[in-house]
Amino acid sequence: MAPELVLEQLGQPTSTDLVISSLEMPDLLVRLGLCRLGAFDFDGTLTGKQQYATQWNRLDIHLLPELQQAAMDDREQYLLRKKDDDHHPEAGEDWWVAHIPKENLPCTEAAWLSRSIERYARSGMTQAMVNAAGRERILRPGTSNLLALFEKRIIISFGIEQFIRACLQTNGLTADIAANRFRFDEQSRLIGYHTNVVASLSKKTALERYMTIQGFKPHEVFAIGDAVTDIEMMQPDGFNVLLMPKNDHDAKWVAFRRNHLPTLWPKITMILVSDTLNTMVELINMARRR
Ligand SMILES: [Mg+2]
Repeated sequence: MAPELVLEQLGQPTSTDLVISSLEMPDLLVRLGLCRLGAFDFDGTLTGKQQYATQWNRLDIHLLPELQQAAMDDREQYLLRKKDDDHHPEAGEDWWVAHIPKENLPCTEAAWLSRSIERYARSGMTQAMVNAAGRERILRPGTSNLLALFEKRIIISFGIEQFIRACLQTNGLTADIAANRFRFDEQSRLIGYHTNVVASLSKKTALERYMTIQGFKPHEVFAIGDAVTDIEMMQPDGFNVLLMPKNDHDAKWVAFRRNHLPTLWPKITMILVSDTLNTMVELINMARRR
């Protein structure tokens, strides 16, 4: 049976934020009131639309000119092949490399990460550059208030631990972080990374490990992200939010709705159509007041 969609318009009469859920608002608030652990994607969720879409895009500005094209080629290949979900058979010698099966995505992502970091090291990247990039990242309105609502907070990102920490510190925020750890030498020059990497499919593992360590049950977990890979980290019994920024809902979202939403819908507790996290904060406060 197709789930019933409930659309609620929230906040000020002028607000165009929307909540889309198969639960009625009272049930939604009961579930939300149980959440004590917050799990957050970083790029695109806690950060809004800005000049550089991801942490990697931002760090790429430090690449030596001769390495920039290679970085773009790598990213384009990865994004193109990742999108290629229809498993069409490929003849000839490219039969394997021309398509990335989902099962091989973690290997591909780790290899891509490794090559990116190697290029940053060759370009003379330092800890100061990474920290500066993190400090200038602009958080989505409502982020501080949202983080403050949870007993424990974890940011789970296919980005960089030190970058995220610098961003949090400059905003006076604290959270535990599962992301890729850069390694620097005594002169603070980038020399490598910790090999226990976070790729998109590790997000689920990271959240489960964190829940075990901290002693939380699935129904106590609130998770929010803006992409397919974030939904994969979400607990079936958790409170799972897909953030759909209004300024983002063109081509990317048309493709997402067509290709992924039908299969992912059962895992999503609600879709929040908003450019800020203020409505989410308002909903949690409503849930707690009940
Ligand atoms: Mg994201």
